[in-house]
Amino acid sequence: MKEIVPPVPMPPLVHNQYSEIRETFNRYVVPSYSRFEIALARGQGSYVWDVAGRRYLDLGSGIAVCALGHAHAEITKALVEQSQRLMHVSNLYYHEPQGRLAERLVGYLAPGKVFFCNSGGEANEGLFKLARKFGHDEGRFEVLTAQQSFHGRTLAGISATGQEKVKKGFEPAVPGFRHVPYNDLDAVRQALSPSTVAILIEGIQGEGGITPATAEYLLGLRRLCDERRLLLMIDAVQCGHFRTGRFQSFQRILEGVDGAAGFMPDAISMAKSLGGGFPIGAFWIRGESHGVRLSDLLGPGTHATTFGGTPLGCAVANRVLDVIEAEDLAGHVRTLGDWLKDELQRLVETYPTVLRTVRGMGFMLGLEFQPAAEIPGLAGTEKVAAVQVVSRLHEAGVLTIPSGAQVVRLLPALNLSKPQAEEGIAAIERVVHRLSIG
Ligand SMILES: *Cc1c(COP(=O)(O)O)cnc(C)c1O
Repeated sequence: MKEIVPPVPMPPLVHNQYSEIRETFNRYVVPSYSRFEIALARGQGSYVWDVAGRRYLDLGSGIAVCALGHAHAEITKALVEQSQRLMHVSNLYYHEPQGRLAERLVGYLAPGKVFFCNSGGEANEGLFKLARKFGHDEGRFEVLTAQQSFHGRTLAGISATGQEKVKKGFEPAVPGFRHVPYNDLDAVRQALSPSTVAILIEGIQGEGGITPATAEYLLGLRRLCDERRLLLMIDAVQCGHFRTGRFQSFQRILEGVDGAAGFMPDAISMAKSLGGGFPIGAFWIRGESHGVRLSDLLGPGTHATTFGGTPLGCAVANRVLDVIEAEDLAGHVRTLGDWLKDELQRLVETYPTVLRTVRGMGFMLGLEFQPAAEIPGLAGTEKVAAVQVVSRLHEAGVLTIPSGAQVVRLLPALNLSKPQAEEGIAAIERVVHRLSIG
């Protein structure tokens, strides 16, 4: 891949004291996140530097957000150019970047329309409202989601999420959500009630530990939704936007599968990588479904957000797509993602006392560890394996992301290079090797 020279020299590192930064957070920032003991100051491509000047290979890219890595020259240019013209206009007016971005997103999918918002949680809220509007006149409102799913931290988002830990303390839940085991078509069939109007799943469960939907599940859900007049909605906030080497994970999962040719859900939520680090979310609605013009269901006055689809956000998202297309990052993610997964599989086979399995595809990979108590190097420790491993990887100079108790996620920038991938695997192997000998 060609290296792009930054338009401005890299800014000098400001050596703040880590302890001062942490102290300010402790005093003034709501303590809703448990943070690692790192304060970051600068990034370039797939590397970031902490305030002491220590470099890390970033295999998390935010949490699957910085699609082109950090400080990408094209993103900087798009931000500068567009902000000099028009940063924000309300949705009372038209502007070119939003229409063009919508057209491109539709082009990767199927005829339909796009609504722009600012985050994944907000995109899912749009899907819930779409489902309720679709079922309203028949008195249907219930959305089935999967156990271990994650759909955001809004009130409806935590109600939709199939994990108790996000709901605790915030009851009562928003009514109209029930959870079924993932990848289990019979469970969905049995759970249907006269109130059910939609099914929402992630193409690949992200927070739940990197579990892809099977092709049979996707195709079976589509058939079921067609038979029972339900909306099939996919939360692609984490697994979408070329992370799997195709625009959508279901496109990758269904590649070459018999009977999958016309598969398309009715609605898809997006965010994370869409703006390459600039906050923007969206949801796509299929044009025609169940004999109605689904994409026009949310008519004037039914849904809105002040910051949705600003010229700045859309210009950046368009530029991210320009780079992904020009550099064929989808193809790159498929090839290097396969290599990464093979390497992680080799580690699983070499270190069975430490590792259980590897799951995922493209640049959305999850390495499942044994429980902490069973890993020689973690015997007698208290924290869950995933968090301890991520901390040890920090010491080895690599950023990764825990997912549940035992899974460590790799969600690198789509332009991670082969040498960087090799560097990451070498560091992971060093840490895993040490854990294997206690
Ligand atoms: C991150 C995520 C969300 C929530 O997105 P926010 O931008 O944090 O609101 C929703 N669904 C999935 C699958 C996610 O990974």
